[in-house]
Amino acid sequence: MPEVVSLFKNKVLLLSQTFFIKDNKDELLLCAHKYDFDILFFDQMSDFVTAVESSEGNDLFVIDLDVLYNMQNDMSQQRRQTMFLSDLLQRLPANQNYVYLQTVRQGERFLLQQKLVESNCLAYAEKPITNDMLVDKLFNLFGRHKRGDSNTIIYLGDNAPLDTDMLTQHGVDMIQCFDARSLHLRVKETQPDIVLINETQYLNTEALVRVLKKNIEFDPGREIIMLQDKPEPRLARKALDSGFDEILNATDSDVLTRQLLNRINKIRASKDLISRDRATGLLNKVGLQNKALDMIRRAARMEKPLAYGVIDIDKFKTINDTWGHYFGDIVIKRLSLVLSSQLGEYDLLSRFGGEEFVAVFWDCDLEQGKQKLDAMREAFGKIAFEVTADEIRHFSFSGGVADFPSFKTENDLFLQADAMLYQAKQGGRNQICIKAPEQISVA
Ligand code: GH3
Ligand code: MG
Ligand code: MG
Repeated sequence: MPEVVSLFKNKVLLLSQTFFIKDNKDELLLCAHKYDFDILFFDQMSDFVTAVESSEGNDLFVIDLDVLYNMQNDMSQQRRQTMFLSDLLQRLPANQNYVYLQTVRQGERFLLQQKLVESNCLAYAEKPITNDMLVDKLFNLFGRHKRGDSNTIIYLGDNAPLDTDMLTQHGVDMIQCFDARSLHLRVKETQPDIVLINETQYLNTEALVRVLKKNIEFDPGREIIMLQDKPEPRLARKALDSGFDEILNATDSDVLTRQLLNRINKIRASKDLISRDRATGLLNKVGLQNKALDMIRRAARMEKPLAYGVIDIDKFKTINDTWGHYFGDIVIKRLSLVLSSQLGEYDLLSRFGGEEFVAVFWDCDLEQGKQKLDAMREAFGKIAFEVTADEIRHFSFSGGVADFPSFKTENDLFLQADAMLYQAKQGGRNQICIKAPEQISVA
């Protein structure tokens, strides 16, 4: 197997022999690249197994179960199929998990599914499945494995009936709060995903939940849960009426911790949904704002510079008007691909609005930020777009950059970078502008 050097953060190894993949390869790849992962295609079982065995890191392994039919064309399919499924499962390295793509007909057979889910199955999906959907789901599976974000639970009470080691293992921080009257302050400061309140604390200070929830800035995705030592329907009813989302039993810390971890996973998944742009898979404005806030705090703490760049495609209205909105969308997706392929591990990229993007570079000063955007600008300019069968066009974007710590808040960084973008447009487009050094006032 030739060594493949990938531009993308994650890799999917896909075993398939059907036209579903063959005819579809390019488009499927393009979708995957938007979400920053690559797909390596295999049509031979033995190559696939070898690749799985030598895989390291965060790869996903996907098997299109149509290989079962195609490998045994000349046999009586009905019998061979089941035979070969166990054969296939046996040949797969047992230390990995797999995603299976099956047909509706395979899906209707419970015994077959049972066999699948009991054999290192990470997930299964039913065909036909659109490229967008498949890529979106695979992307979520990557997300489950590796996600920089940590989640927080805050607990009000004396002894937290939780397994903190298990929480830590799953990237969840537990913060304990002893004083009911400062809970709302701690919540504001730490922005937890779940607030746990011991029933005794609730009985002492009934207004607790209302104080949290009536705050106009309260995150509606956050859950407030009361812990009870033994079921007491009357108290539970009252607590639910006063705003608790849920009552959980606190007698078994192991069970309780597992319940909370499941909830955290759901919260993570819905956060992903609201913070990503569906068309490009990049962060949207909401997602960027949350992450940029974290990044600025981290940069301040670690005394690192940040470069904040705003990008806007040149004469995009003309592109839409001349070749149609659909073509315009393709240009946007291709740009998102170019930008994400040049991103560092700790950088942020967002589709901020229609044809505007924001990139935030970690540990990068103003001049370096300009250079990075310039490299992206050149890469984008090289792309040959086939606007018609015999006409090729190149497009460009303009950009502006601002830096932290010269500008300290996300809003100020954006305003400054946007002002520089305006300057780039005024200066003739297809260029990146920053403020000249002597113009920067010492903050
Ligand atoms: P300039 O060089 O000054 O930026 O010129 P421009 O034509 O690009 O002007 P502007 O940035 O103001 O125009 C953006 C246009 O992008 C307006 C809108 O119709 C179009 N647009 C916004 N979102 C989308 C989208 O998702 N898809 C497509 N195809 N067009 C979009
Ligand atoms: Mg614009
Ligand atoms: Mg524009």
